[in-house]
Amino acid sequence: MIAVEGLAKSYGAVRALDGITFTVNHGEIFSLLGHNGAGKTTTIRILTCRLRPSAGSASVAGFSCRTQQDHIKPRINLVSQDQNLYERMSGRDNLAFFASLYGASKRRVEELLRAVGLGDVASRKVKTYSGGMKQRLLIARALVNQPEVLFLDEPTAGLDPASAHEVRALVKDLSGAGTTIFLTTHYMEEADELSDRVAFLAHGRVVALDTPRELKLRYGHKTATVLLQDRSEANIDLASSDDAARMESWMRDGRVLTVHSHEGTLEDVFIALAGRSL
Ligand code: ATP
Repeated sequence: MIAVEGLAKSYGAVRALDGITFTVNHGEIFSLLGHNGAGKTTTIRILTCRLRPSAGSASVAGFSCRTQQDHIKPRINLVSQDQNLYERMSGRDNLAFFASLYGASKRRVEELLRAVGLGDVASRKVKTYSGGMKQRLLIARALVNQPEVLFLDEPTAGLDPASAHEVRALVKDLSGAGTTIFLTTHYMEEADELSDRVAFLAHGRVVALDTPRELKLRYGHKTATVLLQDRSEANIDLASSDDAARMESWMRDGRVLTVHSHEGTLEDVFIALAGRSL
C-alpha cells in the first residue's frame, strides 16, 4: 500500500530524511517512531502529498507521490496534531460541514458518528467534549472520504489514559475493517499495543524495522523476577552469566518459588538503538 525507497528531504542545510526505505502492507498498522526531529512528520508530509522529496521515490496505493498526487489524495486522509474543530458547533454539524466538502451524504455522517462512538452526543457542542471525544471526531472527519490509508500523527498526544484508550480502540477497529494505518507516536507502549510493524527513525534514517515482538527479542533487555522461599524478590538479567550462576545456586538449594520472565519493552529497543530514551 505504501512503498518508500531511498527517500531524502533536506531543508536548506538540514537533512531531515537521509534515504529511507520501507513498505507498508495493505491493512497493516505501521508505526514510525523516533525522537523529536527524527523526520517522522516530514515522512508523513511527503506521503500525504504536502511536501516534495529532494530525492528517492514514494508511492501510495501504487501511485507516485511526485507525479500522481491527484490519484493519491482521494484515497488517503490525515489526522495531524494541529487540526481544529469548530467548538461552538455540534459534533454532527462539524462532521456535516466537512462531509459537504467531500460530497458525502447525511447518512454517511450518521454512520461515522456511530462508528467513532459519538452517536449519542452528536448534538452537543464540541466545546463540551472531552479530549478523547474531540480526537475521535477528528478521526471521523478524516474518514469522510473512506480513505484506504489513514495517517495519524501522534493521535493520543496530550490525552488522559482513558481517552487514549478510546482512541486506540478506534484505531484497532479501523484496522480490523481493512483501513491501512500509518501512525507516529512518542508512546512506546502504544506502538507496541497497536502496531503490526514498527520502524525506528533516527537522524533521518531507518535504524530498525520489524514486528514489536522481534525487536524486543533482538534488542530488549530480557529479565526475570525470581520469588524466593524467604519471600524476597530478585531481578535477574537473563543475558548475564553472573545472574545465571546465582539462579543455579538458588535452584540447587531449593529456594526458588516462582520465576516470571520479561521480554523487554520497545523503550529498551529505542535506548539500545538511539542511546537515549524517548
Ligand atoms: P517531532 O517528533 O518533534 O514532531 P519529527 O520526527 O516529526 O519531530 P520533523 O518535523 O520531520 O521531525 O523534522 C526533521 C528535521 O527537519 C528537524 O531537524 C527539523 O528541525 C527540520 N525541519 C522540519 N521542518 C522544517 C522546515 N520547514 N524548515 C527547516 N527545517 C525543518
